[in-house]
Amino acid sequence: SKTKGRNTISFFHQSIQEAADARMFLEKELRSAIENQDFILYYQPQTDRFGRLSGSEALIRWEHGQKGLIAPDQFIPVAEEAGLIVPLGIWVFRESCAQMRKWLDNGLDIQHISINVSSKQFRQQDFVDQIAEAIRQYEVPASRFVIELTEGVVIDNIDDTVKKMRALKHLGVKISIDDFGTGYSSLTYLKQLPLDELKIDKSFVRDITTDFNDAIIIETIINMAHNLGIDVIAEGVETEAQKDFLYNKGCRVFQGYYFSRPMTSADFEVWVRKGER
Ligand code: C2E
Ligand code: CA
Ligand code: CA
Ligand code: CA
Repeated sequence: SKTKGRNTISFFHQSIQEAADARMFLEKELRSAIENQDFILYYQPQTDRFGRLSGSEALIRWEHGQKGLIAPDQFIPVAEEAGLIVPLGIWVFRESCAQMRKWLDNGLDIQHISINVSSKQFRQQDFVDQIAEAIRQYEVPASRFVIELTEGVVIDNIDDTVKKMRALKHLGVKISIDDFGTGYSSLTYLKQLPLDELKIDKSFVRDITTDFNDAIIIETIINMAHNLGIDVIAEGVETEAQKDFLYNKGCRVFQGYYFSRPMTSADFEVWVRKGER
């Protein structure tokens, strides 16, 4: 009926309105969370096949007063769209520098911290200057940091990418391509870039022991990267079988729940000290 139709339409509008309101509210909350620095970095070990540490990845969480810890997938996309990723990304890098400074002062040899950098942040004109400034201010070696960029970010504006990557390399910062294999970049493209590492996405690792195609893709990535002199790390390693399979294909660095979940810096330190004994 007509009435029913009208109700459907108004319900439709209402739900759009509600979604928009919720989004606005989240954005507002996020804005003040950034002002108050209501975030925490978790650290996940990167290891050799025996679980010996070779580095770490910093993964952000929002410490929300009412909702508890909020995962990055719940707010990073909103932060990107609202332009808040720039101040948030700067906080992440500075916080990582402060953490590395503490680890060095306490005699903890954490080889590096890998940091996720979003497209909007990387495209800022002063991106490299911000990195250089933080490194200088916290007096940490640039070689202790790895910038993780996704394929999409890298190939989106290749001239700007090359320029910034060279500047980062000049500082001594390392560069990794995150979620590798999920984008559309070819290794021919990538060989023109000063890359240190390719990170195989967990979607390939998940089915590696059962999906013949994923196994072939991984093997190809590993061989080509090594021929180009680029290191390979696999993320999302959850089982011994996955780890062994990857190792047999030539992968030497692993990250995933099989070795450890991401942890607070305090738990991470305990984990590292245990491994040192
Ligand atoms: P990512 O960079 O691909 O990070 C890997 C994600 O996989 C992390 O989720 C990590 O906790 C999770 N993970 C680690 N090991 C395993 C495993 O064995 N199995 C499975 N299923 N998952 C595993 P998390 O911490 O929720 O982060 C999600 C995404 O949020 C990250 O994906 C990254 O794209 C983004 N992100 C995290 N921190 C930051 C940040 O500081 N800045 C920016 N721009 N993005 C960030
Ligand atoms: Ca990452
Ligand atoms: Ca990934
Ligand atoms: Ca990612």
